[in-house]
Amino acid sequence: MDKTLDIDQERLIADFMTLVSIGSHSREEANVAAYIKGAVEELGYVVAEDHAGDIVGGNTGNLIVRVPGNPNWPTILLMAHMDTVAPGHGVRPIRHADRITSDGKTVLGADDKAGVAGLLHLLTVLHSTKEEHPPLEVVFTICEEVGLLGAKALDRSSLQASYGFVFDSGGPLGSIVTHGPAQAKMKALVHGKAAHAGMAPEKGVSAIEVTSQAIAKMHLGRIDDHTTANIGQIKGGFATNIVCDLVELYAEARSLNDDRLRIQQEHMTQVLQATAKQHGVFAEVDWTASYPSFALPQDSFLRIIATNAMNRMDVTPTFVHSGGGSDANVINSKGIPVINLAVAYQQIHTLEEWISLDNLTGAAQMILEIVRATSDYERHV
Ligand SMILES: [Zn+2]
Repeated sequence: MDKTLDIDQERLIADFMTLVSIGSHSREEANVAAYIKGAVEELGYVVAEDHAGDIVGGNTGNLIVRVPGNPNWPTILLMAHMDTVAPGHGVRPIRHADRITSDGKTVLGADDKAGVAGLLHLLTVLHSTKEEHPPLEVVFTICEEVGLLGAKALDRSSLQASYGFVFDSGGPLGSIVTHGPAQAKMKALVHGKAAHAGMAPEKGVSAIEVTSQAIAKMHLGRIDDHTTANIGQIKGGFATNIVCDLVELYAEARSLNDDRLRIQQEHMTQVLQATAKQHGVFAEVDWTASYPSFALPQDSFLRIIATNAMNRMDVTPTFVHSGGGSDANVINSKGIPVINLAVAYQQIHTLEEWISLDNLTGAAQMILEIVRATSDYERHV
């Protein structure tokens, strides 16, 4: 089949360029939300905004678009996030022969405006083809990049969806994320004892030395197939002539396996506390769970639907485990099974971020084929 048969490529590209040029750092998504609202309302669909903005202190909530479909079929959730990382103000997208980049001063924001553009295009196509499809709940979330806050604030009871798809992953088109890690964040205060560094260093205990010794003993980086850990930030000390009495340490651990995550957390806590104790001081260690892991069963029908969608467009489906969290982690934990599909943007969260024109079009086609594969599936169950 002609892979771009249904996609108006020029319109999609123009829409994408407009979307990325509207800055939308996390908690500042209102302008892009207004653009999405306008585009959706032009098609005659109703857009609801939830209260997530109040909860997270942002200037808009999540947008929920309900598209009526065959009432005998379950409602399907389709999601992309509206926010981008910084620097994302004043994005000037540049269209090259085969790709779109920023001007090098900002990120591009294809993460996740490529997903947003694809979903808007889907609505346009369904509106014009009038083909049969399940009822859809298309959700555009806020604050994905700062801890999946929009998805967390999404009220489960306001959604009718039985299952769904998140369009927010790098990797080649056809990558289907079936596993995502849980993440936990650590804040530690390592206490020392202040003293004059020249006159009485033996009266002090350097929190910096205690912390460095502890970090040197810690297993960090890639721990195993499933688990990673990282010290991200360290603060402490005032002057060279004072033995430092307090260090703040910020770290994280992630794992696809909840037990291994717990073991890694315990390891990091234990090393800090034991090392402090050896020096006659102490460390306070606090962990908070950022988001839960998800794992889609081997026989999940979502795998079948996603595979069928890829087959429809001659793209090879590849099932992958992600090392990063996405809205899919949160939505799964709310009891709606979802998988995360690659939109094929590259070098995200950098000034070199780009997406090829083929992948932008392919992603939009893939979103459409997912809905069609869902219709096929519902027709036959
Ligand atoms: Zn993203």
